[in-house]
Amino acid sequence: KVPLVLSSFLDRAVSLYGEKEAVFTEDKVYTYAQMNKRVNQLSAGLRKLGISKGDRVAYLTPNSAEMLEGFYGIFQLGAIMVPLNTRLTPEDYLFILNHSEAKVLFIDQLLYHLIQPIKENLECVHTIIVHHRTDEINEIDYNNWLSDLPDSEFERESVDEEDVCSLLYTSGTTGNPKGVMLTHRNNYLHALSAMHHLRVSDKDTLLHVLPMFHVNGWGSPFYYTANGASQVCLRKTSPEAIFHAIEKHNVTIIHMAPTVLNALLQYYDQYTPSVSRNVRVVIAGSAPPPAFVSRVEKELGWEFIQVYGMTESSPLSLISTIRSQHLDLPEEKIYQMKAKAGHSMIGSEVKVVNEHGEEVTHDGKEIGEIITRSHGVMKGYWKNDEATMESLRNGWLHTGDMGVIDENGTIEIVDRKKDIIISGGENISSIEVEGMLYEHPAILEAAVIAVPHEKWGETPHAYIVRKNNQELTEAEVIAFTRERLAHFKAVTGVSFVEELPKTASGKIQKVQLRNAYWEQRG
Ligand code: ATP
Ligand code: MG
Repeated sequence: KVPLVLSSFLDRAVSLYGEKEAVFTEDKVYTYAQMNKRVNQLSAGLRKLGISKGDRVAYLTPNSAEMLEGFYGIFQLGAIMVPLNTRLTPEDYLFILNHSEAKVLFIDQLLYHLIQPIKENLECVHTIIVHHRTDEINEIDYNNWLSDLPDSEFERESVDEEDVCSLLYTSGTTGNPKGVMLTHRNNYLHALSAMHHLRVSDKDTLLHVLPMFHVNGWGSPFYYTANGASQVCLRKTSPEAIFHAIEKHNVTIIHMAPTVLNALLQYYDQYTPSVSRNVRVVIAGSAPPPAFVSRVEKELGWEFIQVYGMTESSPLSLISTIRSQHLDLPEEKIYQMKAKAGHSMIGSEVKVVNEHGEEVTHDGKEIGEIITRSHGVMKGYWKNDEATMESLRNGWLHTGDMGVIDENGTIEIVDRKKDIIISGGENISSIEVEGMLYEHPAILEAAVIAVPHEKWGETPHAYIVRKNNQELTEAEVIAFTRERLAHFKAVTGVSFVEELPKTASGKIQKVQLRNAYWEQRG
């Protein structure tokens, strides 16, 4: 039996595409052959530092060539990568580094100050290695360290496909981060399925906009590497930098959060760069408002694909697939289809079940919890059996997301269980109300949360960021939603804010909005 291990993806790229560009950064290019040499040096260096099978190695860096080579350098040893979210606090890093018992930490010079205050309290980290080190930092410089190590073929550990390859701490959108254990097999089979659905080939150049420490950015390099595609890593991802990189590297494919896509659409309004036509497809999760889909396809000219997934399932399990028999339907109909998460990907099974675990009626109306089982579903949460048993039951991953399924088997995400608004006994999807708000010309961003109401139990309250210099009042917003939605779904209050709190992967943190709401009311 051939073990399904991730190093084989790089092997394939090196043998078929050795002289092709593997990765571009703002100031560097490495071919697959060059990258492979650095990977061998890294594995040799880690072995010298005492890292062996099953040990954890942490990374705290923006998207970079160093992080990409880190994957394969670690996998050759059968060690485990712990990528750290770059937007946490020193206390968070202390928790995750001690909880994961990481022994070595690779960190970018720009982020070093986040670790300095907690350095003395790190229980297991014995070596810190700095990417792009400056003179003030008294630690090992990555490139110097690497250059003294042999780049010849590395004698690999024997790695089994069921071995854990990563501990990804969840975004923490709803609470404390949990360490998700994904195996080589999880990522390998997820990559095979994703490369098929996204039609990845050696003609592709992927622009990394999602952070690589997050599951989507973390899992995607595998399917691009296996096919000899090129990848572009940016340290900064402003709309300007994104459009610039698209032009410079002839980018063909991008995965990104709808909030970033929204920012690109705003920027595009002002600048209209024609080159963006090279992009063949953009992939987004996290419930894009339907109005986006048509703007992306019509104005930017990019095919839009919606996906649904979560860290615990490597991540993707649903994809909006338009069947060829439907291609002649009117555009608007197709955009509506793409605004739904869609059908299970190859290798995943997805069901919508009621509180008794029975499948809901396929009528597009009855709401239930989304559960999935697939080759991508995690081994469990690291050192947290209770949470594992809670989410993995009878072989099914309970997602905590609510959805409906229609007679064609198309699944639509209604909301997170925790975000649903229950008003007068009716379920209101915050996502649906937000989608409507995004259609207002003066609204840049919107998020809707449940707030208590004497008569109805809860009602929707909107947090809104207005577009530049646009006038908009609370009464206008309320009237706008009352005209377009069933009255019970209309918002009953509005808070105008300068910006919305977001996770590093671009998701709006509703927990923070709920806290802000309560603080405001004392
Ligand atoms: P935490 O679990 O720490 O609270 P998180 O759930 O945001 O954080 P991720 O695993 O990054 O962490 O995100 C997965 C979640 O993102 C899903 O459970 C779902 O709520 C949401 N999501 C993903 N894709 C979609 C989509 N297409 N439409 C709506 N929601 C989506
Ligand atoms: Mg989650």
